[in-house]
Amino acid sequence: MRKHIFNAGPCKLSDPCLENTAKAILELNNSGQSILEVSHRSKDFEPIINEAVALFKEILNVPANYHVLFLGGGASTQFAMIPINFLKSKAAYVNTGTWSDKAIKEAKIFGKVEVIASSEDKNHTYYPKGFTIPTDVDYVHITSNNTIRGTEIFEDLKSPVPLIADMSSDIMSRQVDVSKYAMIYGGAQKNLGPAGVTFVIIRDDMLERVATDRPIPTMFRYDIHMKEDSMYNTPPCVNIFALNETLKWVKSQGGVKEMERRAIERATMLYAEIDRNSLFKSPVEVGSRSRMNIPFVWADGSEELTEKFMELAKSRKIVGIKGHRSVGGFRASTYNACTIDDVKALITCMQDFEKQVKG
Ligand SMILES: *Cc1c(COP(=O)(O)O)cnc(C)c1O
Repeated sequence: MRKHIFNAGPCKLSDPCLENTAKAILELNNSGQSILEVSHRSKDFEPIINEAVALFKEILNVPANYHVLFLGGGASTQFAMIPINFLKSKAAYVNTGTWSDKAIKEAKIFGKVEVIASSEDKNHTYYPKGFTIPTDVDYVHITSNNTIRGTEIFEDLKSPVPLIADMSSDIMSRQVDVSKYAMIYGGAQKNLGPAGVTFVIIRDDMLERVATDRPIPTMFRYDIHMKEDSMYNTPPCVNIFALNETLKWVKSQGGVKEMERRAIERATMLYAEIDRNSLFKSPVEVGSRSRMNIPFVWADGSEELTEKFMELAKSRKIVGIKGHRSVGGFRASTYNACTIDDVKALITCMQDFEKQVKG
């Protein structure tokens, strides 16, 4: 029996994605070959990557003047690729925790970084709002959803300079106005597919902003990947296949609009229980609470109960709720494929545990 999967990443994927990928690994469309074996430049694979790009654009309503790329290296490689391509004098970053910290660290290798807003003062328990984006920077970088801290920004910022967003963990869980961004990127393994493929949505005019005053290795150049349509080198074929299956599934379910409705439904139910249950509390301020990653900690420091609660969860086939070491407690990641039944199972488990403890 399948478990209730709340892993932060790699994430739970839809049944059709798993079934169709499993089939394609044995044989792709009567081709006599596995998806693991076919040439990436063949008639067998090209329709798959083309369909994935087309569906990605359709589902997210990506304007015509953008490229959608599927690359290797994870979001972590993007942390370096962004400044090596675009940081000429100074870049602005919003610091909302671990992942933006890492992005800032990489940017500092290539130029000046101005941290224009930060939630560090309150241990990243909220998303900074109302900050001003300077006009004298090459770009501004945000992390729209903080996978570890469980904070999320729900608006598309208006920016006088190119706005770049790491949307690894909330892509396609809510409607975004892509035209407000110069670039959106992320690892697929939080909402879209297995680990190993990175999506990059990039506005065509960014091609002209690639730095010319420094040597950039070919694999790190956005202009090359744009010109070659993600085929400069061998792309991660099976990952792109699985990603395409997820996109087909998202479309069949009603698109991002329906994904957002479900995300709100799941998150509302779970936060209501966290707020109600006398044992637990949310470490995140109301208004900044992520719909995708929902941390909860002991209300009165009952750390000694952690193992007992984890055991009860395990007996209910609930996996992946151990909190990140920097926050402690628990974290339920409720990505797109997470069902309301998964969430109900967790809520029942929390309620039963409260009865056990409090009698
Ligand atoms: C997981 C994650 C990353 C890192 O992604 P990799 O693909 O493992 O490099 C970066 N940013 C955010 C917001 C993440 O959740």
